[in-house]
Amino acid sequence: MDLNESAEEQAFRLEVRAFVRDQLPVEIRDKVLKFQHLEKSDYVTWHRILGARGWGAPTWPKEYGGTGWSGVQRVIFEQECMEAGAPRLLAAVNMIGPILMRYGTPEQQAYFLPKTRDMDIVWCQGYSEPGAGSDLASLRTRAERQGDHYVVNGQKIWTSLSLWADWVFALVRTSSEGKPQEGISFLLIDLNTPGITRRPIRMINGSMEFTEVFFDNVNVPASNLVHEKNKGWSVAKHLLVHERSAQADIGLCKRMLRRLKEVATTCLKRGRPLIEDQRFRDQVVRVEMDLLAHEWTLLRVLSMIANKRDPGPETFVLKLGATAIVQKASELLMECAGPDALPYVAEALHEGWQGDLPNALEIHTLAANYFDWRRISIYGGTSEVTKGIMSKMILGL
Ligand SMILES: Cc1cc2nc3c(=O)[nH]c(=O)nc-3n(C[C@H](O)[C@H](O)[C@H](O)COP(=O)(O)OP(=O)(O)OC[C@H]3O[C@@H](n4cnc5c(N)ncnc54)[C@H](O)[C@@H]3O)c2cc1C
Repeated sequence: MDLNESAEEQAFRLEVRAFVRDQLPVEIRDKVLKFQHLEKSDYVTWHRILGARGWGAPTWPKEYGGTGWSGVQRVIFEQECMEAGAPRLLAAVNMIGPILMRYGTPEQQAYFLPKTRDMDIVWCQGYSEPGAGSDLASLRTRAERQGDHYVVNGQKIWTSLSLWADWVFALVRTSSEGKPQEGISFLLIDLNTPGITRRPIRMINGSMEFTEVFFDNVNVPASNLVHEKNKGWSVAKHLLVHERSAQADIGLCKRMLRRLKEVATTCLKRGRPLIEDQRFRDQVVRVEMDLLAHEWTLLRVLSMIANKRDPGPETFVLKLGATAIVQKASELLMECAGPDALPYVAEALHEGWQGDLPNALEIHTLAANYFDWRRISIYGGTSEVTKGIMSKMILGL
């Protein structure tokens, strides 16, 4: 197992770095680096810039219009983009793309894949429901076959970015027979179909990223079923593997550490920069060491995948590692600012806000960001549930 970057990989890193430096619009970069809210247009603009370079679908194989990159190249790309202040690619491209490649009909692939890659269609994920989060198989949104349509009734919740989305890929109940997992199907639903209502949920940092989505006698063509009826659980599980493998978030962790060091260098304690305080510096060093270990774990996982070995529980460690680093860094950032971090100025997260700030903008986004980062231990599987799955895998239960 050679964990060093090859000459080609180093050259690729420099190529990505130069591209992001030259092509990423400054106003988008500034918002990202200040941890402010982004608009849909910011994501679309960046995505289309990448698309023009042939990098719009970094995880897709070449035959479907992707980059055909190796795992290491994808990590380098994500890292360089995140560190330089580029917006994340909207996650659904990496989720629904591989699903359609594996389970979609030729018609579904031909229609949806190019539009998804080019962001002509923005997707959201309709899995969770009130009462069906960790225990996803207990979902109750029903789809009944009537002629050449399914009629969908029910409710989804915590649907990220659904106000921006055109389509939702949803898990629906098509049978109540047998085990709950055996009566679930995977449907593609146009969000502009009559009978769909999206109701925003305001988040703790003031953003409206989530919605509840209500389905009231919504007609969905039967041709929008992916894979077989009642076989949606295997599709859902396949998709979660793609969701998890993207969660190492090395670039984000590095940016958080860099921000922590910057703020700790500017914030003073008894007239001296906080970073010079031995006890505080020890905690920063601890985060940096955890980040190094996290990065090596990711490289080990990639090496296993490249050698056709199943990474097993290590994939789950990646999500837990990123969670620990990001949340610890955000806690230390709050400590840096001390009482100055307490005013909760959600408005400071909006570009161009001209309120009266007694301190630097960075300080006024800290509290909102600190609360916002609690989310990372919930989405894509909570930390508790992730640890439960890992322990079963390791102990063979
Ligand atoms: C930022 C964010 C974005 C999201 N985006 C989407 C999206 O786009 N689409 C979508 O469908 N969903 C989305 N979700 C929802 C997310 O998948 C669920 O919140 C998550 O699965 C947890 O489900 P729940 O909220 O119902 O909590 P619950 O499952 O009710 O869990 C509540 C608590 O109980 C604990 N718990 C539950 N079961 C166990 C167990 N077996 N062992 C130990 N502890 C347990 C949990 O860890 C948690 O602390 C998003 C969530 C967040 C925070």
